[in-house]
Amino acid sequence: MDELHYQIDLLSAMNEKLGSNEKMYRAICDTSMNAFLYYNFEEDRLELLGNWEHFFDMKISEWKDVAKIYDRVEEKYVFPLRDTIFLEKSGKERRVQECRSADQRIWMDCEVTVTYNEDRKPIEKVIRFCDITKFKRQNDELSYLAYYDILTGLYNRNYFVRILSDWIGKAKQENAIISVLFVDIDDFRKINDGMGMIIGDDLVQQVGQFLGELREDKVIVSHFNSDLYCIAIYNPCGTRSVEHIYHTIKERMKTPFVLAEGGELNISISVGVAEYPEAGSSAIELINCAEIVMFKAKNKGKARIQYFDAPILNEFLKNVEMETKLKNAVAGDSFMLFYQPQFDVKSGRMRGVEALVRWKDEEGHMISPAEFIPIAEKSGLIVQIGNWVLKKSISSFAFWREKYDYDMILSINISAIQYKKQDFVGRLMELLREYNVPPSKIELEITESILIDDFEEITQKMHALREYGIRVSMDDFGTGFSSLSYLKGLPIDTLKIDKSFIDTLTTDEATKTITEAMIGMVKKLGLETVAEGVETADQLAYLKSIDCDNIQGFLLGKPMPEKELIQVIEAQAEMVQKDFERTMM
Ligand code: C2E
Ligand code: CA
Ligand code: CA
Repeated sequence: MDELHYQIDLLSAMNEKLGSNEKMYRAICDTSMNAFLYYNFEEDRLELLGNWEHFFDMKISEWKDVAKIYDRVEEKYVFPLRDTIFLEKSGKERRVQECRSADQRIWMDCEVTVTYNEDRKPIEKVIRFCDITKFKRQNDELSYLAYYDILTGLYNRNYFVRILSDWIGKAKQENAIISVLFVDIDDFRKINDGMGMIIGDDLVQQVGQFLGELREDKVIVSHFNSDLYCIAIYNPCGTRSVEHIYHTIKERMKTPFVLAEGGELNISISVGVAEYPEAGSSAIELINCAEIVMFKAKNKGKARIQYFDAPILNEFLKNVEMETKLKNAVAGDSFMLFYQPQFDVKSGRMRGVEALVRWKDEEGHMISPAEFIPIAEKSGLIVQIGNWVLKKSISSFAFWREKYDYDMILSINISAIQYKKQDFVGRLMELLREYNVPPSKIELEITESILIDDFEEITQKMHALREYGIRVSMDDFGTGFSSLSYLKGLPIDTLKIDKSFIDTLTTDEATKTITEAMIGMVKKLGLETVAEGVETADQLAYLKSIDCDNIQGFLLGKPMPEKELIQVIEAQAEMVQKDFERTMM
């Protein structure tokens, strides 16, 4: 009897425990955001637990109604969901299927777990619905960021490269052609710096939107960064041809872009084109080649299209190599200065010298500044080179002045980038003080191209130089936009007539007329003239007859190292001394 009581107590205690466990599990299920369906195969018993209403607007109490769930999900998920819910048919124990509600409100995971007995007969099944909407949204945002550019909504660089790489794989098999167009807004930096980033972004967005309209099957458009876009066309032809797309771009550029901030902006666009397989066999190679030729289009005057060709690439590679060498040269000590004398036509005396930089590369080759200065300008190395030229030439000049007591001018070529540096005037004045050189003996040679950018700022600096007494000379006159009228307003002391005029001076009547008129007008403006590149006695005689003040050229002296120049200075100083003695007699 006791035993029986004991058994009864034990059972009721166990029941109580079971009851409280069940309560606990129920509470957990009901407060969870998930919905559960429990199904017992043997008893054909179904129970719903948890937050069922969150997922579906109905409940079921019998297994035969389970199909009602399918009506509540998007059609394309019905079949995979059914296979998951009837997991026991595949004999599997667990599977998860992602699906979305029919009203597209909720993304959910449906997780099914089936337990089997020893004979692999299903006993129980638990189906759990879990809301993954938030996770999916975050995921979508992340993948958007991974593939698209936020500003324009176009593909970003990475995704573009990925698609292009896939295309190349396909093109290899299909013997297809792929055109890559590198598209760049001309003078974008000026717009961005001058009008502000908001307008810059607005423009980038609008151009992006316009280029986006060129998208079609087998035409992809991407925004790399700033004002750089890239288009790829698989097997270009018809409306998908490069010519057609470029024509559409050119036509669009004829009308201005209306800015959100108000106002309109006229822009032009340069395009570089490289094609698979001609220009490269990888996405990066093609993009790089297209970019290189795009820069060529800019150099040729912008607003144009440039197709890839091998000489352009070779020139680019040569420049890259030179830039690397130039960097090492700047760090080391590979530059030297040559000096070319300038002579006063009337007196025959040396007026001064022009400092001309020379570069001896690692292999000992002398490289012409005409070749390396443009590369130094592009890479910014010109500033360091220019500073070296200033210091070296001014210190040598100070030494000659002191030693030979010969009054002359030192002309130094100044690149636009160097001139525009904020501390340019300050540095120069510091050097002149350090070496005790009067500013009036220094002449800076600048070219007209310097004036294109910011006329106001540039001329202000010229006035500042002028106030210190430093001379300014306009170099290569006649090769730029050369309007005599703008010279009137500029604080310039000297004008150098470009060699191209001197070359044909004695053979071409038109050049004669122009040069004569030029010198006449320049003199009226009170400027000094220097004719450069004088190679023959005839040229010299003619220049003398039209009243040119000074000449510089191979006829009277090639650019020479300091040692040789010193001999010329000594000879000149001696002549002055003799003249002086003669007049004293
Ligand atoms: P540039 O300022 O027009 O210099 C004159 C160039 O013409 C020099 O070439 C000179 O050697 C050459 N030349 C002078 N007379 C004659 C002649 O009678 N016949 C011929 N055929 N040529 C003559 P170079 O020294 O090769 O300099 C080329 C250019 O490099 C210069 O042209 C100048 O723009 C630039 N450059 C040279 N040195 C510097 C420098 O220190 N800084 C900067 N920024 N540019 C420099
Ligand atoms: Ca010069
Ligand atoms: Ca010149």
